[in-house]
Amino acid sequence: MPLPSRTPRPPSPRARARARVLRSAVLVALSAGLVAAALPPAAPLGIGDPLFPQLGNPGYDVLSYDISLTYPGRNTAPLAAVTRIQALATGDLDRINLDFTHGTVSAVTVEGEPAAYESSGEDLVITPARPVDRGEAVEIAVTHTSDPRGPADSGGWVRTGDGLAMANQADAAHRVFPSNDHPSDKAFFTFRITAPNALTAVANGLPESRVRKGATATWTYRTAHPMATELAQVSIGESTVVHRQGPHGLKLRDVVRTADRELLEPWLRRTPGHLEWLEKRLGGYPFETYGVLVADADTGFELETQTLSLFERGLFTEPGLPDWYVDSIMVHELSHQWFGDSVSPRTWSDLWLNEGHATWYEALYAEEKGGPTLERRMKAAYGASDQWRADGGPPAAPKPPEPGEKISLFRPVVYDGAALALYALRHEIGTEAFQRLERTWVSEHQDGTPGTKDFIALAEWISGRDLTRFFADWLYAAKTPPMPGHPDWHSRAPRP
Ligand SMILES: [Zn+2]
Repeated sequence: MPLPSRTPRPPSPRARARARVLRSAVLVALSAGLVAAALPPAAPLGIGDPLFPQLGNPGYDVLSYDISLTYPGRNTAPLAAVTRIQALATGDLDRINLDFTHGTVSAVTVEGEPAAYESSGEDLVITPARPVDRGEAVEIAVTHTSDPRGPADSGGWVRTGDGLAMANQADAAHRVFPSNDHPSDKAFFTFRITAPNALTAVANGLPESRVRKGATATWTYRTAHPMATELAQVSIGESTVVHRQGPHGLKLRDVVRTADRELLEPWLRRTPGHLEWLEKRLGGYPFETYGVLVADADTGFELETQTLSLFERGLFTEPGLPDWYVDSIMVHELSHQWFGDSVSPRTWSDLWLNEGHATWYEALYAEEKGGPTLERRMKAAYGASDQWRADGGPPAAPKPPEPGEKISLFRPVVYDGAALALYALRHEIGTEAFQRLERTWVSEHQDGTPGTKDFIALAEWISGRDLTRFFADWLYAAKTPPMPGHPDWHSRAPRP
């Protein structure tokens, strides 16, 4: 049930002054408890994402997160945590909703003052001692636990053989820390991780300090660019950080189990080459550092966490996987640093902009390294495309995930099905315009959150063409349109 309370609205100084007077009168007359009782019941809010309507919250913009985590030395017990959020109110707020579930909250302050709080659905609903006005900066501090236990497929913490890693995409960051858990609200992050001395902690961004105190050490990391909550990464384990240099002196650091360092080196040393290959096509790498985190875990996926992509150890150690395949998966996650991380989606329906592009560069790289040709892969995708659209919806209007299986959003239609749309686009506007579009998209929207309509507008501007019909068919139609240049390609009729 939506809460008919505070949504952003234009300021009206006279109305605000009157409200202030009334509030003070009420505060004098009644106890704080009675004022809280005058508010409607707490309810979970969202910003209306087409696929996850209750993710994110209206009325504020998070500027930064400062997250302190204390790891007890085993991954079967909750971590003690404090999350400090600096936000800017974009509306008048009697209440502040954060997304948070699966942990226990023991205290909340707003601007240093103790605040009332309660859980409602997957929201932590905070009632500050004094309402927050639109335009005000506000600091919220939540003392809580962060619990790595629970079903492995629910997302959030990943329990590894030697500690923890994180996999929050799409909607699980709020299982780890209270947040405005929607990719359209990016913010700067600081992580302060306290762990027993024998362990190594690494997070997104660059290290700032490591301070030993008795049997523990506190590691601090900070991001130089804003980041979506779904892209947060914290690794704690018996690991070694392997440093090397990338193009133009870029600092690279990989995180591997100390015991695996030698074994994985032949793969780790490929990253500088992957970077050069992508920079040639897309322009400069968008962040302050990059690296590969190899986790001793069976996640069933790799994940483009910002500046430090998460990989399952098995990708590199399982016999029988061809080199070109492993290489191309590394390039897939690396290309997400441009598509998905630096340029992150406005809504989860824009997921095709992440996965379609990452699949595109994965396929191009595979072709160069002995994998199938792009044309062969795209012809196969074309054959399956009508089935994919029937199962998952068209690329830019995907069906919601299956109930209880949020990860089922990641269907073939947003991977090869979306790369197929890019293949058609390249033919439609020509290779030169297509490459210019790709480079302009990632440079113009660096650190931004553009949506599908922005991509369409840029494609039209760069090609000087009206592409309304083209994109309506390729991104939104139930049936796959004819492939330009390949009238002989056919998509099999979907099974009911
Ligand atoms: Zn991907």
